[in-house]
Amino acid sequence: MKVCAAKCSSYNYAEVEAAVAEVFSEFGGIETFIKPGERVLIKPNMLEGLPPERAVTTHPEVVRAVVRMVKKAGAIPLVGDSPGTGNTERVAARCGIARVCQEEGAELLPFAEAKDYPHPEGRTVKRFSLARELSEVDKVISVAKMKTHSFMGITGGIKNLFGFNVATTKAQYHLRMQKRDDFAAMLCDLALLIKPVFFIIDGVVGMEGNGPRNGNPKKAGVIIGGDSGFAVDMVMTQMMGFEAEKMPVARVALNWGVVVPLKEIEVTGSGKGLTFNFAPPNNIESLDGRIPAFLVRFFQNQFTARPVMNERCVGCGRCARHCPPKAVKIENRRAIVDYNKCIRCYCCQELCPANAVELKEGFLMRLFSRKK
Ligand code: SF4
Ligand code: SF4
Repeated sequence: MKVCAAKCSSYNYAEVEAAVAEVFSEFGGIETFIKPGERVLIKPNMLEGLPPERAVTTHPEVVRAVVRMVKKAGAIPLVGDSPGTGNTERVAARCGIARVCQEEGAELLPFAEAKDYPHPEGRTVKRFSLARELSEVDKVISVAKMKTHSFMGITGGIKNLFGFNVATTKAQYHLRMQKRDDFAAMLCDLALLIKPVFFIIDGVVGMEGNGPRNGNPKKAGVIIGGDSGFAVDMVMTQMMGFEAEKMPVARVALNWGVVVPLKEIEVTGSGKGLTFNFAPPNNIESLDGRIPAFLVRFFQNQFTARPVMNERCVGCGRCARHCPPKAVKIENRRAIVDYNKCIRCYCCQELCPANAVELKEGFLMRLFSRKK
């Protein structure tokens, strides 16, 4: 398995285009993966309608570079997503991707309607309900953002594919797969079903801390890519300064044999060897190996951080609307969590527009945590 990391110090288009071209050229060019006339769905991270400088969404100039490469190969670029909150057109307009689509003549596809996709080889999920548009394209390219993620540790090319789930199905997966490894296994199955032909990561400016929405922009100056999303994400994670093989998705992928150990992944490109010191999200700490697994399961709530709404809460109700088990209610313009119902999925923290959700570690987690 091979991953290319190309240096890219800014979102100046010429520089972005050169970096994206460097990545594809390491794999024989984009023509290795797509043929003239094919409909190619480019899937950026459009979590929410925020300006590009917030580093929540894939930068529009990175999307532009991929759209132009697809067109140059004689294929038809389409851009689609189902944002975490808000409708796709509005989100795309605010994060600058709608303008790129318009200028480049790429159709914007708001994923609104779902259809069934059987996945008989799936190890945890045998049937997904995903955006109808997936069945109407020939190839998919994931164009994700380099970010931390409170629940999954990091979000890159694989987690980006969760956006193929439309509206309420996202919450259903959080309800059905409450443990990190179960959710990660679902993401692995999803990636093996969708099989994007290529993965690009926008790491020019990534996000550290409480990602994927409420962290801080962190300049890394790199664009990473390859034809295995699992390998690309592991190399990205290592560059961020985390233990790549300990992330939930990487753990499952290694266990299933769909990715090789990090040391066996060949890394090429002008950005090879770069590493950064990304601040972890509040809940990244892994207790694996330090206490027996049965104890973690038994004291699940004590070994996971709980969401606590601080004084920045304005009572907008977004967390209540998106909380999968309906554990949040709004009282006196403040969000209140019922911890007996809370499944620690952190959707509230991910989507809170006021950055009002803090993750507080339980007593036992503090006791066993290395960082305390
Ligand atoms: S915690 Fe955030 S999302 Fe929830 S009501 Fe308060 S401000 Fe809104
Ligand atoms: S309160 Fe937050 S962390 Fe708990 S279940 Fe609801 S969205 Fe998930």
